[in-house]
Amino acid sequence: MDLFEYQGKQYFERYDIPVSKGGVAVSVDEAVRIADSVGYPVVVKAQVKVGGRGKAGGVKLASTPEEARQHAGNILGMDIKGHTVERLWVEHATDIAKEWYASFTLDRAAQLHLLMLSVKGGVEIEEVARTDPEAIVKVHVDPSEGYSLSQAMNAVTKAGIDAEVRGETAKLLVSLYRCFVEGDCDLVEINPLVLTTDGKVHALDAKVTLDDNAMFRHPEWEEFAATDTTDEREKSAKQRGLNYVGLDGDVGIIANGAGLAMSTLDVVSQAGGSAANFLDIGGGANAALMASALDLINSDSNVKSILVNIFGGITRCDEVAKGIVQALAEVDLKSPIVLRLDGTNAEEGREILADHISDRLLVEKTMLDAASKAVAMAATKDSKG
Ligand code: GDP
Ligand code: MN
Repeated sequence: MDLFEYQGKQYFERYDIPVSKGGVAVSVDEAVRIADSVGYPVVVKAQVKVGGRGKAGGVKLASTPEEARQHAGNILGMDIKGHTVERLWVEHATDIAKEWYASFTLDRAAQLHLLMLSVKGGVEIEEVARTDPEAIVKVHVDPSEGYSLSQAMNAVTKAGIDAEVRGETAKLLVSLYRCFVEGDCDLVEINPLVLTTDGKVHALDAKVTLDDNAMFRHPEWEEFAATDTTDEREKSAKQRGLNYVGLDGDVGIIANGAGLAMSTLDVVSQAGGSAANFLDIGGGANAALMASALDLINSDSNVKSILVNIFGGITRCDEVAKGIVQALAEVDLKSPIVLRLDGTNAEEGREILADHISDRLLVEKTMLDAASKAVAMAATKDSKG
């Protein structure tokens, strides 16, 4: 899960990484109130989970309340690379002398952590890697040994960080590594890490990606999860414990297991159609979850047919069948369902469904047959909604 910049900065603060004083605003008035309280000049920043906000006009300096009001008004609602700005972060502006780059991430191939440090910050690191790879110091860190101040001193020296602030920068890197490991992150990135005109080192931006597998030991991540997606369908799916991704085709897909869901997408496109979503109900799904999944797909107005592809293992096909019957009774399904049921208790499942087969519910033997049927039905449309 990616964090917004303001959440990343809150995360950094817990590990004593210096950030600017600021606040989150969802309205223009609120933005001006925060600007007044942190003191001018301020910087008004779009909170979207993509980089390059500065270039897109989503980061603006304001010296007066009038300017803050104007920028906040312009930035709120702005579209940045397909993300609508719904929140602003307003912080006291920093006088920048130099812009650097620092990050810790996981190098899966090397099975080690990786520090990247460069005095060429403020621009995209991919750009620096392309034009001036020598300018990026890359150092592996063995997680079983940790990261010491003397290792950090070596890195900052090698990177060419100004001598007067090497100690301070090295300390910050050690804190950043602690944040990365103890905070269960996949990535912590500061771009730019700045040297201020009065000689301090400071995180001006924050990119933090949390490792979702560690969610169970971080109840405090709930608040991040709550702001993680603005897509209502994805939010609702998360609450129901479903693994859902919205796509832009018209065949709704439900499968058990991420692998099967992905091959279902492939087979739908092989049959000449396109998927409206990816929905994995997971292993061991029961009737209630199946009904819930159908309800969710049904709320997507793009969906013209629903392909349910179940290969029973731990998930029992009779449970899935019960869920479908339950959904038929409870939900006003706008689209026909094409079902492929195989594996554990598939016979029992088909028996349960036998009385419900109609032009709204079809059962096909193979995955490709089911996909072809679902694609054909989506093409002719004629769902009743
Ligand atoms: P990004 O474009 O999404 O990476 O957003 P950043 O938070 O990195 O901001 C982009 C650029 O805006 C930075 O590289 C800085 O040059 C500039 N910027 C951000 N905050 C300040 C500030 O407090 N003072 C000044 N002078 N410039 C800032
Ligand atoms: Mn940045």
